[in-house]
Amino acid sequence: MKRRELLGSLFSDKERREDIIIRPPYYKDIYSFDKHCHECNGICSTVCQENIIVITENKTPILNFSKSGCTYCDECAKACPSDVLNTEYKQKIALEFEIDMLQCLSWNNTLCFSCKEPCLDNAIEFLGMFRPSIIDDKCTACGFCVSRCPTNAINYKKERDQ
Ligand code: SF4
Ligand code: SF4
Ligand code: SF4
Repeated sequence: MKRRELLGSLFSDKERREDIIIRPPYYKDIYSFDKHCHECNGICSTVCQENIIVITENKTPILNFSKSGCTYCDECAKACPSDVLNTEYKQKIALEFEIDMLQCLSWNNTLCFSCKEPCLDNAIEFLGMFRPSIIDDKCTACGFCVSRCPTNAINYKKERDQ
C-alpha cells in the first residue's frame, strides 16, 4: 500500500483531473497538435471505438475518461493524416492514478469492487475485501476505472516529470 492511501488524497484541487489535458498517446512533439490539427477535421476522434477523443475549440484532440478508457488500440494514430500521431511514438499516458480514501465506498466499510473489474492490468489491489489501492508499476493509465467508480473516488494527475 502506498503511503498516500493512508493519508487520503494528497492531490491538491489544482492538480485534480478536470483541468488536465490528456493527449492521445502517440505523439512525439507536444506542440505538434497546435501546429497541425487545425488543418484536419478531427479524424482521430471519429475512429476511436471507445469514443473518448474530444476535439477542443482549438481543433486539437484530448482524451475524456468520463465514459470509457483507452485500449491503446492504435486506431487514432493510424488514421492521423499528419505526423502528429504515429504508432512509432506510442507511449504510456503520462498520468498517475490514486484512490481517494475519503470518497471510496470500500475504504468506508461498504463492499464495492466496481473499479477492479474493468482493470485488465490487475493494478487495483484490495486488502482482503476492502481498502483498494492502485499499484503504480502495474497501472497503464488507461482510465477505464474512472467512470466505473460510483463515488468519483479515482483521481489522476500528471506524472511528476511532466
Ligand atoms: S488508442 Fe484507440 S482507444 Fe485509445 S484514444 Fe486512440 S483510438 Fe481511442
Ligand atoms: S487526426 Fe491527427 S491531425 Fe487530425 S486532429 Fe487528430 S491528431 Fe490532429
Ligand atoms: S487507470 Fe490504472 S488502475 Fe485504472 S483501470 Fe487503467 S490500469 Fe487499472
